[in-house]
Amino acid sequence: MTPRTGRHFLQIPGPTNVPDQVLRAMAAPTIDHRGPEFAALTLRLLHQLKPVFGTSGPVVVYPSSGTGAWEAALVNTLSPDDRVLCFETGHFATLWAQMATALGLRPDIVPGDWRHGADPDELARRLTADTRHTIKAVCVVHNETSTGVTSRIPEIRRVLDDSGHPALLLVDTISSLGSLDYRHDAWGVDVTVAGSQKGLMLPPGLSFNAVSDKALAAARTARLPKSFWDWEPVIAANQRGFFPYTPATNLLYGLSEALDLLAAEGLDEIYARHARHARATRAAVRGWGLEVLCADEREHSGSLTGVLLPRGHDADKVREIILERYDMSLGAGLGKLAGTVFRIGHLGHFNDLTLAGTLAGVQMGLGLAGVPVDPAGLGAALEVLGAP
Ligand code: PLP
Repeated sequence: MTPRTGRHFLQIPGPTNVPDQVLRAMAAPTIDHRGPEFAALTLRLLHQLKPVFGTSGPVVVYPSSGTGAWEAALVNTLSPDDRVLCFETGHFATLWAQMATALGLRPDIVPGDWRHGADPDELARRLTADTRHTIKAVCVVHNETSTGVTSRIPEIRRVLDDSGHPALLLVDTISSLGSLDYRHDAWGVDVTVAGSQKGLMLPPGLSFNAVSDKALAAARTARLPKSFWDWEPVIAANQRGFFPYTPATNLLYGLSEALDLLAAEGLDEIYARHARHARATRAAVRGWGLEVLCADEREHSGSLTGVLLPRGHDADKVREIILERYDMSLGAGLGKLAGTVFRIGHLGHFNDLTLAGTLAGVQMGLGLAGVPVDPAGLGAALEVLGAP
């Protein structure tokens, strides 16, 4: 590999670039997780997390990757053989449904083409047909990281309300929380699943469940086996600022710093920044003469863009050239999209010039890989970024 100068461009859709302030915060000495200083940190953190989720209810923090929070959402609320309705929006939705099967649930999978989000009309049909209310939960990935498609959660909620169906709504926000508009309480979500390594600008290693009253009530009778993931002892210990096991102390230092950064910028400003960067990225992709993977204008992701290559071109080869030549990592096509799609992450600790550099690297790399692209693509993005 060519010797590196300057900073690596980590433009995968998570883990994202970690701000220096967050890295420095995590370098502080580890403290006693049963002492008063730690309790004060936890209580402050749990309070600061609520607006990011848009909730006044509890947020459970786990020392795990996002996959753990998926499991926690299922095992706390459901019982063996329960039916769960899962929308196959892409790779991550598929993995979540596979986990449901592994845990002894019965997922009904709504097939998808990996270019659209969860379909509210199909949800209405499925719920109407379920007159005996055997579907216990609806699982939706808010922002499908494998495709760059954002499902319309408020419309999903409206369908649940209109049908009078009591199923819980479980939503994965692993690549949307802290980047895209999201409201756990206002949108009537029962469990929001999140992770530290994307919009929250932390390294991987923390995950979250925001929990509604209805989900807490379901947890009192749910019979799937649970121990480590059980909300109840965590919520009880959190009252006094502690955890029932050793928490990831230094990641929590980082979280505190990251939440301060989010609060200083303002959530609305953060959402607008991500939407603008996504718009500029789509302008580049279309300007190059390539296709954005997301097929519905209402569902474009603000945090990443999936780019479809023309037949006969290998997306992994393009990424390899860009890594070798420009020291930039882009997201691979996952699952059935391997080789035909690459993904540009534009989320987290990110600004106009990071995007301009990213898109310049992609444009040059596409050229080196022999993909025919119109160099006007970069200019189209700069026009969006340069608009007053
Ligand atoms: N869900 C989504 C939408 C994701 O993007 C990811 C990871 O990228 C996961 C779930 C799995 O999370 P983790 O890899 O942190 O376990």
